[in-house]
Amino acid sequence: MSIDTARPALSPACLKPEVRDFSPYVAGMSIDEIRERYGLAQVVKMASNENPLGTSPLVQRAICEHAGLAFRYAQSGNPRLVRAIAEHLGVESARVVVGNGSDEIIDLLIRVLARPGVDNVIAFKPSFSMYGLQSRLCGVEFRATPLNADFTFPWDAFVAQADAHTALAFVTTPDNPSGFTPPAAELEALAARLPQGCLLVVDEAYMDFVADQAAHSLLGRLASFPNVAVLRTFSKLYGLAGLRLGYGVLPEWLADYMWRTRPPFSVNVLAEAAGLAALEDQVFRDETVRAVAEGRQYLAHALRNLGCEVLPSQSNFLMFRPVAALDGGVPVSARVLFERLLERGVIIRPLKSYGLEEWVRVSVGNERENALFIELTREILHG
Ligand SMILES: *Cc1c(COP(=O)(O)O)cnc(C)c1O
Repeated sequence: MSIDTARPALSPACLKPEVRDFSPYVAGMSIDEIRERYGLAQVVKMASNENPLGTSPLVQRAICEHAGLAFRYAQSGNPRLVRAIAEHLGVESARVVVGNGSDEIIDLLIRVLARPGVDNVIAFKPSFSMYGLQSRLCGVEFRATPLNADFTFPWDAFVAQADAHTALAFVTTPDNPSGFTPPAAELEALAARLPQGCLLVVDEAYMDFVADQAAHSLLGRLASFPNVAVLRTFSKLYGLAGLRLGYGVLPEWLADYMWRTRPPFSVNVLAEAAGLAALEDQVFRDETVRAVAEGRQYLAHALRNLGCEVLPSQSNFLMFRPVAALDGGVPVSARVLFERLLERGVIIRPLKSYGLEEWVRVSVGNERENALFIELTREILHG
């Protein structure tokens, strides 16, 4: 018992230090927010990598059909959904844990595996901010290795920051925000180099958009990699970002402990029904993949023609920066481009919160949205 650990009077001084110092997740701006701020009738959001085709009609019908079941708790363990996902992926059900978005799986992995004040979590810098946010919130040291200047992964430096207390190593592929996608062989090599107590978590939120998945994902071969887990989500390809549904494919023993500790009803009855319908709707997924591939190609080409540097991407977004303006154009910073697009009703994602002030990320929209975005960007960059 020491005096300095006695609780002060109930006030913010009572908060855990990790909470007092917490800087929250920075989300893409919402359509309503921008519509109000600029008094616009129409706002296009290309900021959060949502599905450009919206919600599948089959999913909408399933949600309506299950609306009357909203008074029920979901069945413990979401068994139907887990079976359907496992079947769809060709993995054992016992490996699959579903969550309230893959965000919940990320959070739970850290809470289940990393000991506060003892262990650490490693990732790249920049990377998806949830890895660092949830680590710090849990009182777990977060170590981030800077990416190479071309946004590829410096594996040696990554492995060098791991030690006997590294609980988790997060790698995102395709990477967000750059779009970089390393060959699966590099992830295999990484798995073999990490310390024995460390789980490699490969966040494949955007893998569904990659043309040759066998060459880039370890998912089909997880049985040979006892220290690897893969995360996927229904938020992007499946168009269910607002319903919150993601999952991890994990070593069986870990999946068991995740189920024991996950809040019992975090995947609700409508998310479950929607997920099952989304898995059935191959037509919608094929359409989405096609629309994204075409839109991405169109955007990359058009942005390069406007003098922008565009990173290669296999995903449903592009990271780019307005470089020196072409003939007649004036140089415009990423910040200014972002703000002028906003005033005109197009929301893209500035990357300041990722430490990339010169860059922005744009999600592939539908044909009309892509054309509008390019038209406005041309106006802003070239007057
Ligand atoms: C969008 C995204 C996710 C998915 O998050 P959900 O919680 O499933 O919506 C996970 N990881 C990365 C890198 C993402 O960009």
